[in-house]
Amino acid sequence: MIVNPTDDEIRVGVFICDCGLNIAGAVDCAAVTDYAETLPDVVCAVRNKYTCADPGQNKIKDAIQQHRLNRVVVASCTPRQHEPTFRQCVREAGLNPYLMEMANLREHCSWVHPGDWDGATRKAKDLVASAVARARFLQPQEELTVPVTRAAMVIGGGVAGIEAAIELGDAGHKVVLVEKQPSIGGIMAQLDKTYPTMDCSI
Ligand code: SF4
Repeated sequence: MIVNPTDDEIRVGVFICDCGLNIAGAVDCAAVTDYAETLPDVVCAVRNKYTCADPGQNKIKDAIQQHRLNRVVVASCTPRQHEPTFRQCVREAGLNPYLMEMANLREHCSWVHPGDWDGATRKAKDLVASAVARARFLQPQEELTVPVTRAAMVIGGGVAGIEAAIELGDAGHKVVLVEKQPSIGGIMAQLDKTYPTMDCSI
């Protein structure tokens, strides 16, 4: 069962990831963790070596229960890599998955500031503070499933349009290909030879 916070008290947990030395090699993660504990509404800050691994995720789940967290900030890598992982993690701990926010300490900090220990650490603190500030405004969200018509219209019958129409058709969608000229093929149809076979393009 997904539990949504019912009171107004915001309780944020911050989880700082070393990513081995990917982050910890360029950022003072201990200092960032200490700093996170001082931020408004933060009730716990935990440092992990590999937050996406099972032990790291279990620490998040334990802290949600132990500290009655209703907001989670994971300070680790790009959300493109592990946002679904951590949404699922907090969901399994009983928290609405959209009460999780991320700070990108790797791609946005340690990887782009190697050798600048103080500067990278300062920036990491700012990134964490920003994520905590955003997290305090998060609201639980519900995912909706809506029916869709499995059909598509492709406008333009050049090579890209033809290829898109074929791919969509192969994926099982009904496709309508629209072309304003009397024939399809676009620029390609005007070439008398095409590499590498040197055949006529039509
Ligand atoms: S959560 Fe991201 S930053 Fe942390 S160990 Fe996993 S891949 Fe590395």
